[in-house]
Amino acid sequence: MTSVRLSIIVPIYNEEKNLLILYNRLTEVCNKCVGNEYEILFVNDGSRDASEALILELAASDKHIKYVFFSRNFGHQQAVSAGLDYVQGEYCVIIDGDLQDPPELIQEMRQKASEGYEVVYARRKARKGESFFKKTTASVFYRLLRSVTQTDIPIDTGDFRLMHQKVVDVVRKMPEKNKFLRGQIAWVGFRQTFVEYDRDPRIYGTTSYPLSKMLKLAITGITSFSDLPLRLATLLGFVVSGISVVIGFYALYSRFVIKDYVSGWTSLILSVLFLGGVQLICLGIIGEYLSRMYSDIRNRPLYIVKESNLEGHP
Ligand code: UDP
Ligand code: MG
Repeated sequence: MTSVRLSIIVPIYNEEKNLLILYNRLTEVCNKCVGNEYEILFVNDGSRDASEALILELAASDKHIKYVFFSRNFGHQQAVSAGLDYVQGEYCVIIDGDLQDPPELIQEMRQKASEGYEVVYARRKARKGESFFKKTTASVFYRLLRSVTQTDIPIDTGDFRLMHQKVVDVVRKMPEKNKFLRGQIAWVGFRQTFVEYDRDPRIYGTTSYPLSKMLKLAITGITSFSDLPLRLATLLGFVVSGISVVIGFYALYSRFVIKDYVSGWTSLILSVLFLGGVQLICLGIIGEYLSRMYSDIRNRPLYIVKESNLEGHP
């Protein structure tokens, strides 16, 4: 077997229109970087369009093309994790399949890597063709995440990055089931740096990250990398209890000293509602962490492969 110096991981979900352009651009870049010693691994995450057939066609005519097909749609982070499990290259690149991440940037990343960096991530300078809402929520999220965690998670970066095999090995062994790869890779350490780029608009198709999926990823990111929400719940509990004691004394005082105690219905209702709200918030926060533990304990496979052309696979 020829040695692989560069592996490209591409998660694919309904990208039939982008696949050929992507393939051509990636092949050109890989050739420039490492000649013949590369592999492109398409992880098809249960696409409902012709992506699967197209990948099979590509693989039949080009031995650099490797593929893994999931048995259904498992999600973007799972698809990338599968890619990390199977790549063999000395360096590995994670890149989106919709050409929002320009493949040509890989050359610049390799350049940085040759200066001795183990991780080179791509930082978005501008995001073209994305809604104001997506840009703002993403920007707020990255800043919030940074402020609540001690891990140095870079802002405005997605999963588009180049990593050395050493890093891939470590990330592969991390056991959590709720993946937040960009955080995990930052957590690993080693020498990390970035290159900047303008994020292109999607060429074809629409985003498969609606608000609900974005929120889920955001909550995973925060709960995997920070205990602050849990501690905040405790703090909130103390503060509210403190206030309640003060109000309690005041109630006793008005009952026995100034004997003005007929009124009070409003304050009663308000405090009951307030306490109820705080309790629900705290329970919710605890629930979030608990559900995380539960899915780790349940230990189901992260994804199921139904077909692949990798060695030693069905
Ligand atoms: N993707 C995937 N599984 C999914 C959703 C998306 O593998 O369930 C892939 C998709 O094909 C693309 C990448 O993940 O290559 C990023 O998805 P998308 O462009 O929809 O996200 P956005 O760029 O809008 O954040
Ligand atoms: Mg995209």
